Amino acid sequence: LEQEIARLDRLNLIGEMAAGIGHEIRNPMTTVRGFLQMMAEKNDCLKYKQYYDLMIEELDRANSIITEYLSLAKNKCVNLKIQSLNQILDVLYPLIQATAMREDKFIVLSLGDVPNLLLDEKEIRQLILNLSRNGLEAMSPGGKLIIKTMTCSGKVALVVQDEGSGIRPEIIKKLGTPFFTTKNNGTGLGLSVCYSIANRHKATLKVESNNMGTTFSVWFNQNQPEFPHL
Ligand code: ADP
Ligand code: MG
Repeated sequence: LEQEIARLDRLNLIGEMAAGIGHEIRNPMTTVRGFLQMMAEKNDCLKYKQYYDLMIEELDRANSIITEYLSLAKNKCVNLKIQSLNQILDVLYPLIQATAMREDKFIVLSLGDVPNLLLDEKEIRQLILNLSRNGLEAMSPGGKLIIKTMTCSGKVALVVQDEGSGIRPEIIKKLGTPFFTTKNNGTGLGLSVCYSIANRHKATLKVESNNMGTTFSVWFNQNQPEFPHL
């Protein structure tokens, strides 16, 4: 429990800092990005075009890091609606599929018959993308990532299962600590964001891993019928 509290304290601190500077940094970045794009379109020297594209890509990466920080800052979901988890997955599927294809990996989407849930769509997208990205990054070409939904003992589960190298027990303990990464250019924020999104949905994020691969699962409570107005 103490460890859990320490983790939440760290999340809070980082969250507050992020909320403070994130917005301020984003505005000038948007301006720079806009001008870069304009210059990229005006410039017909192929070599420079590549540099412009690279600059825009890097700005987008910085921007997505800010999005992740900002996501840690929140302690409540703002846009909760009763909606279909399967539908959110259906919409995201082509995006994940395209990423997988580029790396010669496969996605299997298996949607169970699950009830609608009280969800923040943007956050659930982020959760799915972060887990899928980690799963893909853990696998060699040829690997298969299974994404599925199912109902199990009164809960709804979203499962992301990879055939990657697995996570050693001493590393599993550190998962969810902001900035913890074993990758060369990782941010170490993806899973922290997942834990905080799951928290805000009163869901539980679980991980199981062995040398055949890793399974992350998010367990949602079904909607309470006593709140039909939601
Ligand atoms: P990042 O992906 O930027 O490193 P994350 O917070 O998403 O940050 O993940 C933190 C660490 O957890 C990763 O660096 C990796 O060591 C481990 N990890 C997460 N997901 C998986 C997975 N599916 N398979 C193996 N290791 C994983
Ligand atoms: Mg990640």
